[in-house]
Amino acid sequence: MPIVLSGKQVAAAINEDVAKRASVLADAGKPATLALLRIGERSDDLSYERSAIKRAEALGIAIRKFELPADADDDAVLGAVKEINEDASIHGCLMFCPLPKHLNAQAIMDALLPEKDIDGIGSGSFAAIFSDRKGFAPCTAAACLAVLDYFGVETEGKRVVVVGRSLVIGKPVSMMLLRRNATVTICHSRSKNLSDITKEGDIVVCATGRAKAYGKEYFREGQVILDVGVNFDEQGNMCGDVDFDDVSDMDVSITPVPGGIGSVTTAILMQHVVEAAEA
Ligand code: NAP
Repeated sequence: MPIVLSGKQVAAAINEDVAKRASVLADAGKPATLALLRIGERSDDLSYERSAIKRAEALGIAIRKFELPADADDDAVLGAVKEINEDASIHGCLMFCPLPKHLNAQAIMDALLPEKDIDGIGSGSFAAIFSDRKGFAPCTAAACLAVLDYFGVETEGKRVVVVGRSLVIGKPVSMMLLRRNATVTICHSRSKNLSDITKEGDIVVCATGRAKAYGKEYFREGQVILDVGVNFDEQGNMCGDVDFDDVSDMDVSITPVPGGIGSVTTAILMQHVVEAAEA
């Protein structure tokens, strides 16, 4: 039987800590404040915005909304970023991505000061991950490490196999685990004999966006599996990259979907806001 590594449990512990720290900041008259920068009214952005506001309010984090029309040009968006950068009462900014296609997304993301880039989307934040400089990691990558820490999974000297090499999750989580002295192998769509490689890992991170693509032939007993994928199966039910039912008779530790890494990601976002405010 697998041991289920509940992300909800991890998120609850992070939220409790964040609420305490936010209350100290509020009592000192410097409430942790998150700017939400949204261009246009895409339904997924609006839904993410609603959940971010609800979560922030529950934790005592103030929100400042910056809304621009869907046809806003680079100058208008860069102007909003400049305002956020220059306002000392704003500590972090969540920019709803992907930005509309007509915009120079890279220039806009890079314009946000790294110390306010709590979602780790700009080049300055990436540079920090690949070096030893301070900066915020993308929240999903940080969520993977938070889950390992919470459940006491050692990384030093361990073999880690990361399946997926995107800038959002595969590459940053690989670099963060490397920094923790894991021996990291990164796999991708051109990797050959993937199941031979994944079986070698003590820890396997699946981040490909392929619904239930990885069944028991990819794993061995005793592994820790972090399933980052957020997909929907033929019945429309949310599922991960790992075929959870198929591995359900294996002796592995695994994050579920839903209720796994995704639950921790938003908690990390709020943790980053409080860290930025404390700094
Ligand atoms: P992405 O940009 O599409 O990257 C997918 C990666 O998977 C690519 O590196 C790709 O390899 C690799 N891949 C695709 N098919 C493969 C195959 N057959 N074998 C091995 N590797 C393969 O996606 P992403 O943004 O990284 O997201 C990955 C998943 O994580 C998605 O399900 C997404 O919804 C989820 N996600 C979850 C959270 C969360 O909070 N839980 C946050 C962000 C993303 P190539 O580079 O060779 O194309």
